[in-house]
Amino acid sequence: MPLPQRHRFPMQKYHILRSMVDENLLGRVTLESARLASRGELELGHSKEYVEKILAGSLTRREVQKMGFPWSTNLVSRARQSVGATLAATEIAKKEKVSISLAGGTHHARYERASGFCLFNDVAIATISELRTNSKSRVLVIDCDVHQGDGTAEILLECERAYTLSIHSARNFPHKKAHSDYDIELLDGTEDTEYLEKLSDGLSRVKDEFDPSLIFFNAGVDVHKNDRLGRLNLSTEGLRQRDAMVYNFARTCSASLIAVMGGGYGSSAVQIAGLHYQTVVEAYRSWKSINIDSESLAK
Ligand SMILES: [Zn+2]
Repeated sequence: MPLPQRHRFPMQKYHILRSMVDENLLGRVTLESARLASRGELELGHSKEYVEKILAGSLTRREVQKMGFPWSTNLVSRARQSVGATLAATEIAKKEKVSISLAGGTHHARYERASGFCLFNDVAIATISELRTNSKSRVLVIDCDVHQGDGTAEILLECERAYTLSIHSARNFPHKKAHSDYDIELLDGTEDTEYLEKLSDGLSRVKDEFDPSLIFFNAGVDVHKNDRLGRLNLSTEGLRQRDAMVYNFARTCSASLIAVMGGGYGSSAVQIAGLHYQTVVEAYRSWKSINIDSESLAK
């Protein structure tokens, strides 16, 4: 979502997160560089006209304002790479059951416009790509970023084999909400216990209504109590429990899961990266419990 200048960390948190993963999980996880998503891939989730405008840099002043960033070739490359990372992570998750994109979660990007710092909707594009290539896939998006996943809900609205769940702050951006398949709205100041109960109830309802084979998890950390824009009051441990709950849910559904990082706007880039890193560690634990612990149990 649009941020006042003082809250911006131009990509800093991603560099710190990458270093944390390199230093602490070296040899235990495999890191792959992201490729650029092709024009055809971008057009899975966006209109041809919009994709052309972004690639050519021919947005109007008002459109640039809505995007939240000045247009540049670097910005476009980064956005394409972020989509490429989520697409690659999807393929890896289908083999390994759990994977992570160390970026992604640009969930405000709409079918034909940028919004709230989001140019291309990586999760919506990867969902449509999966549904087109696999006629049996059923894709669930669990969006736990503090802001509603309005772009994802809009783009996937007509997709029968996709289900969108968004748990978010009622009074936060976007002020005009879209309709997800299931929206859980939270009041300002919501704390761990209430948050986790509502998420757990939401996941139970989804399990009754939809049987996912693949899950995208937007693990935005802007629900944390120190976030400048979040309006909610989750602790670091509450966030860890949230992540563990989602990974556990995927395991009980026998679904593959791809986590994307989503938002985080605290006053310290190191602290934000630390919260994202916690999501990565929980993903690693989940992967390990499926791929290593179960193997040793079987022996
Ligand atoms: Zn957010």
